[in-house]
Amino acid sequence: MARKSTDILIAGAGIAGLTAAACFAQAGYSVTLAAPSAPRRDKTQGDQRSTAFLDPAIALFSEAGLWADLVPHAQPLQELHITDTVGWPPQIRDSRAFASEAPGTPPLAQNLMNWRIADVLLNALELLPNVTLHWGAGFASMVTREREALVQLTDGTGLRARLVIGADGRESAVREAAGISAEISRFGQKALAFSVTHPEPHRNISTEVYNQGGPFTLIPLPDEDGTPTSAVVWMNPGPEAQRLQTLDAQAFSAEATTRSAGLLGPLTLASPRALFPIITLRAKALTAQRTALIAEAAHVVPPIGAQGLNTSLNDLAALLHTAAPETLGARQHLDAYEKSRARDVAARVAAIGLYNRLTRSGLPPLQSLRLSGLKAVADVPPLRRAVMKAGMGG
Ligand SMILES: Cc1cc2nc3c(=O)[nH]c(=O)nc-3n(C[C@H](O)[C@H](O)[C@H](O)COP(=O)(O)OP(=O)(O)OC[C@H]3O[C@@H](n4cnc5c(N)ncnc54)[C@H](O)[C@@H]3O)c2cc1C
Repeated sequence: MARKSTDILIAGAGIAGLTAAACFAQAGYSVTLAAPSAPRRDKTQGDQRSTAFLDPAIALFSEAGLWADLVPHAQPLQELHITDTVGWPPQIRDSRAFASEAPGTPPLAQNLMNWRIADVLLNALELLPNVTLHWGAGFASMVTREREALVQLTDGTGLRARLVIGADGRESAVREAAGISAEISRFGQKALAFSVTHPEPHRNISTEVYNQGGPFTLIPLPDEDGTPTSAVVWMNPGPEAQRLQTLDAQAFSAEATTRSAGLLGPLTLASPRALFPIITLRAKALTAQRTALIAEAAHVVPPIGAQGLNTSLNDLAALLHTAAPETLGARQHLDAYEKSRARDVAARVAAIGLYNRLTRSGLPPLQSLRLSGLKAVADVPPLRRAVMKAGMGG
């Protein structure tokens, strides 16, 4: 059977895979994107997470001509508030605000629903003549050699590619086929992702409310029919998260309101609730012959500080900017990619994993440490600047 040739085979159609397809196609490469199913692009069936895009991600979308179509659906985030609470109902112990230091500077981030991002990206991909979207079949196996990879999809399709990009998520089949192992830590926590409406305006402030079990994070979204709306990520021990997911909407809204310390008034559930296990994962290498891993195939972090997908888009920017038509997928391209990303990925996975361990604890000494850490980061200017810079993707 003749194999179709493509410059790049991308496995996975999460936000990372879709963005990778658009960026490499805009740069002139032929791209085939394969995934078991097309992403859902509507509010009720689509991805219930939101993503607060930081400056480097926005720069990448702008470079690929995508930001103009995304920005109408984005809500700017001007400030991040961290509120520390103890007990139940949560009592506020202290709170700190983080904002850009210079007046008139752009927002800290721009928040969009993931299902909406998928819709905009798919609209763009469908118009690009050098993109083939192959739905209904995932990556199955490959044989690599110096000049190419011979890939087999799960429906039997065979492809020849100069570069295989594994954007196929935390259980990555590409990572396994490339023989790259991964270090995984489990925390016994799960995150609920959903949206709420509320009577008080969010004033473009994202708020992380800490208590034992992990943070409850309110992230501003555009108003829905004139009603203030926020995305929420609520982390809990696994069984508690499952209990919350099965509550009826009214009881769930009441518990969410209590957990939010009433900061935005009574919350009303406005979407389905999606549940995600919390882990850290780091692939031991980002590349193998003719293969590069990006996004959750390469690293997973707990959903704190809007780092996961932003780090993933930093991977993509590095892979794109180290590519050249003559050396695409060759060792020198892959070495340059690995070199530019390995340290940052390792540092972020370690730091966010440790932060999650410390902040979720109900033990009084660790709760005191959480409070003193918050005060130190907020009140000591050099530390505050360093953390802001790292958090903003620097
Ligand atoms: C609750 C929550 C909130 C978050 N909030 C933020 C935030 O504010 N900011 C931020 O930066 N990050 C955030 N993140 C992280 C971010 O959402 C994820 O990192 C990101 O969505 C993962 O994208 P991905 O494309 O790597 O993986 P996925 O979205 O998991 O996509 C994987 C894709 O691979 C496909 N696939 C699976 N197997 C195969 C195969 N064999 N072959 C081909 N395709 C395959 C799947 O069908 C899917 O299309 C959050 C995460 C969670 C859990």
